[in-house]
Amino acid sequence: MELKEAIAKLTELQTKMYAYRTASSALYLDGVTVAPKDTSAGRGVALGILAGEEHKLFAAPEVGELIAFLKDKKSELDELTARQVEILDRNYAQLSKIPMNEYVEYAQLTNEASDIWHRAKETNDFELFRPVLEKLVKFNIKFAGYYDGTKKPYDALLNEYERGVDMVYLDDFFAKVRSKLVPLIKKIGEKPQIDDSFLYKKYPVEIQRKFSDYIMEVMGLNRAHCTIGETEHPFTLNFNSQDVRITTNYSENSLADSLYSVIHEGGHALYELNVDPAYDYNCLSGGVSMGVHESQSRFYENIIGRSEAFAKAIFPKVKEFFPEQLEGVDAEMFYRAINKAQPSLIRTESDELTYSFHVMIRYEIEKQLIGGTLEVKDVPAEWNRLYKEYLGVDVPDDTHGCLQDSHWSGGSFGYFPSYALGSAYGVQMLRKMEKEINVWDSVAKGDLAPVTAWLKENVHKYGCLKDPAEIVKIACGGEFDAKYYVEYLEEKFSKLYNL
Ligand code: ZN
Repeated sequence: MELKEAIAKLTELQTKMYAYRTASSALYLDGVTVAPKDTSAGRGVALGILAGEEHKLFAAPEVGELIAFLKDKKSELDELTARQVEILDRNYAQLSKIPMNEYVEYAQLTNEASDIWHRAKETNDFELFRPVLEKLVKFNIKFAGYYDGTKKPYDALLNEYERGVDMVYLDDFFAKVRSKLVPLIKKIGEKPQIDDSFLYKKYPVEIQRKFSDYIMEVMGLNRAHCTIGETEHPFTLNFNSQDVRITTNYSENSLADSLYSVIHEGGHALYELNVDPAYDYNCLSGGVSMGVHESQSRFYENIIGRSEAFAKAIFPKVKEFFPEQLEGVDAEMFYRAINKAQPSLIRTESDELTYSFHVMIRYEIEKQLIGGTLEVKDVPAEWNRLYKEYLGVDVPDDTHGCLQDSHWSGGSFGYFPSYALGSAYGVQMLRKMEKEINVWDSVAKGDLAPVTAWLKENVHKYGCLKDPAEIVKIACGGEFDAKYYVEYLEEKFSKLYNL
């Protein structure tokens, strides 16, 4: 085989895989947005076929031969092709280790688990979910061995979501967070609480929709390339760098819920839209990892979106949309209200300060589950114990406890830590950004363009060209250190609560 021919085949393979994924994503998006209620069965058939075909296409022995051939010619490849071969080689090695019957069985299990989890959550019935969760844990322990048999199972799973991250790294990270923030949260608990009641007046959904348009405009999201839909759980879906969709969920009794969902998902969308378009339709496209993705979404949501400069910049406009609801409220009150910190039960509704503790609890539980020191039947008790210990809250039932998140039902173990890491990466990126551009002068004018341009240059544009750890190092200007994150939270919340 000629080298040129091999590269052409590699391109063709990746474009085909892109096509399968695009078809699956479009079906998924349709299912969660506009499809009529009782229509999932037919889509399930089509999705099953598409997933099977994509798997067959990639797992074929010819693909293994093609990758091996190109690997041998590494020195003759350009940078982009060499990186594609490296990523595909890794994925191929992993996939070919999973026996086909286990792969199919697992796909069916996660599909079934999602429905069971929904019902269990709705009816507060952990026992209903327990058998399926036991199977999922067993599968993941087994798969961890396929991913990387040289690592401890949970380390191998963590590595799947954030390459280079393991329990040693995370234990150190969470220990730093815990040692500084537990006393801070306790001190805040002794201070008078911020009044945020005006955020929970009646905010008509019709007006909130228009407000979302305004927020997307402020973020510089080009509506010719990014639309917004409505789903139960907000998310971002990217087809390619020119076509990204975000969703939100409107609650008539809350202004901040959808506002911060739009900013969060908008952050994910900007990342996807700013990846070098040259990477479209191959494995270099899209954000590099969960942790880096969350660093971007949470950067916009919290570091910018909940900053004093941004809150005060947008407040006059917020008041134009909701003059009655915000009568008597000024920009300072608005800024304080959107930063109210209070230990609570639900991760997705938690504030910037206590958020990491929700993640830490899930991390501790997963570590024990995959490590074999905690049985699934004991998860609720352990969950409740940790919520009491770290956040001081009593969990009333499993619906508001260990059944609240969908991740485990989808077979995702090792995913949660990336949320907390992302928050921390973002702060360290901010410190570097502040040295290079006038971040807060622009934000105070409601102009986020310089911030986005900086992130594009230091994070977004790379797509998957580099490993997450390398991108973090570039954007942070050095090795990652949790101290920046902890100091940022200490400073911000000490000021907010006059400590
Ligand atoms: Zn996110």
